Amino acid sequence: MANRTPLELEQDIAAIDQTLSTVSEIRSSLHYFTRLIQAEKKEPQYVQNFSIRLNAIKRELNKLSIESEGLRGPLEYAQQLSGAGNFSWPMIKEAASKEAGDEDIADENNSDKQKEAGAMIKEKAESVLGQLSSVVLDRAQTQKPNRFITSHIQYWMLNDKPTNLGMIVEIDEEEKETLVGSTCHIKVTVQKVLVASLSLEYESKSNTLILQQFDIRGPREEKSAWQESDHFVFQKINMLAKDAFGDMTTLSAKEALSSILQWLASYHNLFVEPCYRCHKRLQFDSPHYKHLPAVVRTWVQRRPEKEAEERWMVYRTIGLAYHMRCFMETTEMAE
Ligand SMILES: [Zn+2]
Repeated sequence: MANRTPLELEQDIAAIDQTLSTVSEIRSSLHYFTRLIQAEKKEPQYVQNFSIRLNAIKRELNKLSIESEGLRGPLEYAQQLSGAGNFSWPMIKEAASKEAGDEDIADENNSDKQKEAGAMIKEKAESVLGQLSSVVLDRAQTQKPNRFITSHIQYWMLNDKPTNLGMIVEIDEEEKETLVGSTCHIKVTVQKVLVASLSLEYESKSNTLILQQFDIRGPREEKSAWQESDHFVFQKINMLAKDAFGDMTTLSAKEALSSILQWLASYHNLFVEPCYRCHKRLQFDSPHYKHLPAVVRTWVQRRPEKEAEERWMVYRTIGLAYHMRCFMETTEMAE
């Protein structure tokens, strides 16, 4: 049996602690989810909450699956140790109480420390196994070598998504490795306002993100039966998105992906937010499009040459609402 160094043992314990905290996150998510399902009165946003919670649980289970894969070595080691029977429980108890009373264990020799750490691993491992047995694991999920897009989206959803925003990212086509990086199809739903399908490609060497295809539409729209008003609004947004995504993808891959998600999220108030320039909701666009809401949301752009400071705000802020004409006039004035 290969011995593990004290450093390795400490890392093992840290990994086990991490896994235990993931388990407890899953427990509280499951608890919340169960309460949501069992609630007598279903709130209007029930369906949305349901899928948000379910996705959160799926994410946590994936995390757990990856973490427990990494624990295999330490757990096997702990099993071997306990199988070899060289555990002296009185000694472990003594060590535990000694540790409780005396924080300073630096002067203990290595072999004692190792036994003690081994005992701790066994103790924690048993607790982990006990808790794991109450969780259903999707064992087929293993970490893919190149999951840049998916993992950055997960990171963004957990850390950067505005807290109160109902936003769902579904992986329509799982991330696949290519010769230069990876590709992935995603579907982004922002509240009941907007659905965007995006074909993304990540190029690792140049650290860039390429948007191969996209389509932005209303959430209830069938391709064949668009409602007129929504249809016009989303036609405009698709036109605008071409420029916006073009600018965003000149950034590094991570910045580009974050900008795209943040920009789509900023459409949550599409039909209600007044224009930043004229402070009105609707504007007569043209005889063809008639009245439209503020369909522009600003995105981060590289600073144009000889740019006045006040115009610059339009270029560096994500999510300011403008009517198409007000936006054109604001940005054209700078040229
Ligand atoms: Zn306006």
